[in-house]
Amino acid sequence: MSTPTPTIPREVLDLLPLPPLNTLTDAQERGSVCVWDPTEDPLTAETAIDLGERWADGSHWFPRACRTHTETALRAGAEATA
Ligand SMILES: [Zn+2]
Repeated sequence: MSTPTPTIPREVLDLLPLPPLNTLTDAQERGSVCVWDPTEDPLTAETAIDLGERWADGSHWFPRACRTHTETALRAGAEATA
């Protein structure tokens, strides 16, 4: 608990567009690797941002991402809806 996680509202994270589930690796589906980049180092409790429960094809999953990609997606989403 050394570095405080930036507070991003739950409802914003829930609306972030994610890559299609069928394009992700098993590690990404489990949330152990950034959902936007399977080549990144595995996420840790300190680096991961929980993107919330998602449903796809009748099953649910719990994507997580690094802070960098989450902030990039937040900016892209803000521009798309502006
Ligand atoms: Zn990432």
